[in-house]
Amino acid sequence: MSHARAVPVLMYHHVSPNPGLVTVSPATFRNHMETLAARGYQTIGADEFLEFLLGKYDLPAKSVFITFDDGYLDNYVYAYPVLRELGLKATIFAVTGWVGNGQARSTTSPPLCPDHRACKVAIAEGRADEVMLRWSEIEAMEAAGSVEIHSHTHSHARWDKTVADPAARRAALAQDLASSRDTLRQKLGRDDRHLCWPQGYFDHDYVSVAQELGFEALYTTRKHVNTRHTPPTDIGRLVTKDRTDKWLERRIFIYSSPFLGGLYSKLRGEA
Ligand SMILES: [Zn+2]
Repeated sequence: MSHARAVPVLMYHHVSPNPGLVTVSPATFRNHMETLAARGYQTIGADEFLEFLLGKYDLPAKSVFITFDDGYLDNYVYAYPVLRELGLKATIFAVTGWVGNGQARSTTSPPLCPDHRACKVAIAEGRADEVMLRWSEIEAMEAAGSVEIHSHTHSHARWDKTVADPAARRAALAQDLASSRDTLRQKLGRDDRHLCWPQGYFDHDYVSVAQELGFEALYTTRKHVNTRHTPPTDIGRLVTKDRTDKWLERRIFIYSSPFLGGLYSKLRGEA
């Protein structure tokens, strides 16, 4: 069997019937996932992906890493049943401070999953539980083997925009990341190695703070290919769109090739 030379990392946010920014419809998501399954793609876990980057682990040529940012309730309602049905796996980077307690909601008589804008308003008004995942839902998805949860910080704050003093900014970030790690340890019983930056922002200082706390794999919104030579602190991701499986397949093809992917990024000025 041939091995992967580059692994595409797909980035989703919402899967919802309510259109908006960073949203794919449930029909599009099903179409994407059914095509990946039909074409024989293996959807990998976060640790396998990190071991691949570190050169410790070979992955099959048709490997893809599916990620979701923020941890919206719609992931549980509309994405999880499709992943489970098709035997696929994804990672959700959850903002741990937004995850609620209480019983798992129904995926068969689904609760309202509002659009991206309404979700932001709900979070800002202290009603995150109405639109974000609960721990019980996370546990169900993890127990089914369909989803892994990793960190997207505890607060989703952009400290670079709100704290001018470098030392104070560093301290605020360290506190935010430590809270997320502590929460994941307490709720899921493990030390997380994977961190996704809010809105893709990071700098040299951010990387050193994350590494000091034990995060090894840092996920960005940069669009480069991921090969064995990609530093785990600079993981590129492919932005998914509400477009056809053909569109997705072309993107995956490009990002599975170090040569094509590198060329494509250069042409788009994103190398
Ligand atoms: Zn985010």
